[in-house]
Amino acid sequence: MDASQYSQLTLLERIDFSEDLALFRLRADEPVDFTPGQYATLGLKENGSDRPLLRPYSVASAPGNTELEFFIERVDEGALTPKLWDLNQGAELWMRDKIVGRFTLDPDRTYHLMAATVTGVGPYVSIIRNQLRALRNGTQDAPQPMLVLHGASRSWELGTYLDELTTLAAEVDWFEYVPTVSRPWEDPDWEGECGRVEDVLRKHLDESPFSPSETAAYTCGHPQMIEKAQGILERAGFEDDALHEEKYFVERNGA
Ligand SMILES: Cc1cc2nc3c(=O)[nH]c(=O)nc-3n(C[C@H](O)[C@H](O)[C@H](O)COP(=O)(O)OP(=O)(O)OC[C@H]3O[C@@H](n4cnc5c(N)ncnc54)[C@H](O)[C@@H]3O)c2cc1C
Repeated sequence: MDASQYSQLTLLERIDFSEDLALFRLRADEPVDFTPGQYATLGLKENGSDRPLLRPYSVASAPGNTELEFFIERVDEGALTPKLWDLNQGAELWMRDKIVGRFTLDPDRTYHLMAATVTGVGPYVSIIRNQLRALRNGTQDAPQPMLVLHGASRSWELGTYLDELTTLAAEVDWFEYVPTVSRPWEDPDWEGECGRVEDVLRKHLDESPFSPSETAAYTCGHPQMIEKAQGILERAGFEDDALHEEKYFVERNGA
C-alpha cells in the first residue's frame, strides 16, 4: 500500500437504524472534495498486514466538509462490514484520497428520477444536499427537479433520510420523495406507499410529469431492483444513455 494515497479518518459516531443498518459519521483532517454521487474507498488495516481491507461506499454528505457521512448495511458473512460494527468512537479508518465514480448528475437532462433500495439513497442525498446548499447560497440559480423513490422492507430501515427528505419535499417545489416499504405487515403504523421500489416506479412513471426524453433515470443499490427498474424504464421510452446505475454488489448463484 502506498500510504501517500490514503488518509486516515476518525469515527465520530454510528447511528443504528436496525441491527444491520447504520449511518457512519467520519472526520477527515482536511475538507474532502468530490462530485456528489461519487464513492469513497474505505477500509481497515488488519493486524499484521500493511494492506487495508477496502470497500467502496457512496458518500451521503455534500462535498467540501471535513465530516463525511455513509449509510452502510452490515453483511453478516462479509469481510469488512462486521469489523466496521466492532469499531468504537474514535477508531481510525483508511480512505483512498481519490473519491471517484460516474454516478453523478446527468448534465444533459432537465429532470432526474432516482430509485434506491435502502442504502442506495446515499448518492442522491449528497446530490440533493449539494443542490440545496447551492440554491441557498446563490451559486445555483435554477433548481434541477428531482424525484426520489426509496424502498426498504420496513420504514425504520430508511434511516434518518425518511425524515430529512420528507421534510425537504414539503418545503421546496423542485423535490419529491416517495418512500415505500415492502413488508407493511411488519410495520403496522406505516401509512405511505407499499411495495417494492420497482412497483412504485411503474405507478409513478404513469403519473409523473417528467417525460422520458427530458429525464435522466438513476438506479442504485440492490442488483435485482436495478435490473427490473431498468426494464420498466426502457419500456417507458427511456434511452440507454439516460439510464445510470450503481450496483452495490453482484448476487452469487442461487442468492
Ligand atoms: C460503487 C459502490 C458503492 C457502494 N456503496 C455502498 C454504500 O453506500 N453502502 C453500503 O452498505 N454498501 C455499499 N456498497 C457495497 C460495499 O462496497 C460492500 O460490498 C458491502 O459493504 C459488503 O462488504 P463486506 O466486505 O462486508 O462483504 P464482502 O466480503 O465484500 O461480501 C460478501 C458477500 O456478500 C455479498 N454482498 C455484498 N453486499 C451485500 C448486500 N448489501 N446484501 C447482500 N449481499 C451482499 C457480496 O456480493 C459477497 O458475495 C457499494 C458498492 C459499490 C460497488
